Amino acid sequence: METIYFKTVDPISQELLRSASQRGIKVHWDRYERLQPQDGFLRLGLSCPFGCLQGPCRIDPFGRGPDRGICGLDRDGMVAALLLRLTVQGALEAMNEFPSLKKIPNIFRSAPLDRIAPRAIKKLGGQELSLEEISNAASLLQRPLASPEDLIIKALRLGILTLGLLEIKKMEEKAQRSLPLQAGYGLLANGDRIIGVCGQPSPKFLETLAKKASQNFGHRRPLLSLGDWIPVNGGFLPCVCTSGEAELLLASGKIHLLIAGPGADPSMVELCLSLGIPFISSHDTKDAKKILRLVQEKVDTSSPTSFAPDTSLIEETEVILDAKELEEILKKGRARKLFLLGGADAPQQSLGWIPMEVASSLRGEKGCLIAAWGDAALWILKKGLASPGNKPPVYILDEQAGPLLALKALGAIRKLKALQVCFSSLKSCRDLAMALGLASLSVKISVAVPLPLWGSEKVRNLLAEKLGAQGGSLTHFDHAPHAQEILDWFLRKEA
Ligand code: SF4
Repeated sequence: METIYFKTVDPISQELLRSASQRGIKVHWDRYERLQPQDGFLRLGLSCPFGCLQGPCRIDPFGRGPDRGICGLDRDGMVAALLLRLTVQGALEAMNEFPSLKKIPNIFRSAPLDRIAPRAIKKLGGQELSLEEISNAASLLQRPLASPEDLIIKALRLGILTLGLLEIKKMEEKAQRSLPLQAGYGLLANGDRIIGVCGQPSPKFLETLAKKASQNFGHRRPLLSLGDWIPVNGGFLPCVCTSGEAELLLASGKIHLLIAGPGADPSMVELCLSLGIPFISSHDTKDAKKILRLVQEKVDTSSPTSFAPDTSLIEETEVILDAKELEEILKKGRARKLFLLGGADAPQQSLGWIPMEVASSLRGEKGCLIAAWGDAALWILKKGLASPGNKPPVYILDEQAGPLLALKALGAIRKLKALQVCFSSLKSCRDLAMALGLASLSVKISVAVPLPLWGSEKVRNLLAEKLGAQGGSLTHFDHAPHAQEILDWFLRKEA
């Protein structure tokens, strides 16, 4: 536990982590530590990603062992192919939002993307983007025939396509400018019977259950999200913690049942099983009476917990869901720059460190607005930096589409150069594809977790060259960077 400060900066999370450790409860940090060192070949991009069963071939990063695969593939081809492999997965994740859709006639159909995207695509191969791009890219990954440059161009095109798919999803959602969101450990002080929610269960089911639970338990917030942003009843379900802290909440003894909807982290269900916390998954009963009975049984058989967070630890803000809303804020504030910070918690970094440290320092910069999305936004909100009374507040954007909103808002006022986006981590391949797409549309991007590109200098240079020609950039590190390095990146003159 001497390394606890490297795991989370939050004193309450530290207390919960100590308590879990003393009781022998294993959480994601324990598993992360046991997994070290992780596969160094894969981390550098030097483990072959082609769909070929002659391998797996791996290239020695130090030049002392194999320098080519069995088929003759070199390190540049291998690294470029891995980048494309991950981007194909990212585009597929975005496409899965449209299970019944075979063809989208016009991907960039609304302003300002209908102007910005075609211009960028012209310089990246020229042909119009379509969903077929994904299967074409997958076919390039059967055998190593395409050049590293062609693989990189394909990855960048898929990045732009991923943004287009997110944009279509956003357009299909109910138009809302903003929704309220509360966050903080203080939400637990509200009552003694709490249902935790993770993933994205049906809002209708949650609304019915919340109503019945509220009557039954006699308090206003019987359902709390454990880090996911779940729209219900004209707002978001209050978030008691970020996704990286969710296991600690289960271990605290304050949660008496878990609802695990689609997209829930599998470790949550595992932990419920080992701690004897009842859980309801997507396929289980939706009978509210039965669920409330399970909660009561758990309360009756549990020993009391000493964890009693302060009631004042609750912060609230409005989450911006519409680019127009952000555009108006930018115009009103006459912002010279928009610094955007976001992403999910990751064990490589102390939880909350980069978002809170960087956002606090950037707030002093004249003419700059700061915005955030994802877990980073929850950290910033919990620290009180996003509360309306805190001038200027950090603006909180849509959890999934935060960078897209910023792109559209600044694109609409033709100030894309004013946007800088830092991904504090990449949770999924879709995040990586989104980062590549934004950089291809002339946005300055940084990523605070190492990317598997360090096995080939040529690929890194080619990528920088292609993005530079678009007016964008992708800064990444060969180590988990310090908060100061991210702050320097935001503030450097040429950025
Ligand atoms: S494509 Fe070449 S490098 Fe990759 S696994 Fe097959 S033989 Fe090995």
